[in-house]
Parts: sequence; C-alpha cells; structure tokens
Amino acid sequence: MFNSSKSAYPSHSQMVKSLFSEAYKTAKQGLCGDRVLADNKTVEDRLQICSTCEKFNAKEKRCTVCGCFMMVKANLEASNCPDDKW
Ligand code: SF4
Repeated sequence: MFNSSKSAYPSHSQMVKSLFSEAYKTAKQGLCGDRVLADNKTVEDRLQICSTCEKFNAKEKRCTVCGCFMMVKANLEASNCPDDKW
C-alpha cells in the first residue's frame, strides 16, 4: 500500500529545485512565444499515465518523485515526467 506520509516526498530543497525548473522552462517558452499550456488531450494522457504510476499519490494528486501537484504540472506544456513516462 502506498505511504502518503510527508516523508514519501523529496526534500524541500529538491522540491523547490523542481518548482524553479518547471517555472523556468515555462517562462522561457512563454518568452519565446511558444505554447505555455498543454492541450486537453496531452493533459488527459499525462494524468492517465500518472494515475497508473506507483509513484503517484492519488489522494494528494502529487508525484512522489518530484513532489509536484500533477493537476498543475500536467497542464504546463514544457513539463516532463521525472521518470520519463511522459
Ligand atoms: S510524473 Fe511520472 S513518476 Fe510522477 S506520478 Fe506521473 S508518471 Fe509517475
């Protein structure tokens, strides 16, 4: 059974690093005039993959690898799965 305790997530410094990485990629895309938000199909596909992933905390809707909230991360075009699943 999945352990949903806080210790299941990466350290705060690693999560801040992940957050800044995603923010940087998204800002860079926006500044270059590229699409910032993913299309609906892409978001649905990403969330479908996460929903079957053993590293997904379904209760909190967070990835235990990066600590990100997937309802946000999946919507950002430049995002990617830290486990190369999408
Ligand atoms: S982002 Fe990747 S590793 Fe994280 S829950 Fe989704 S599929 Fe799993």
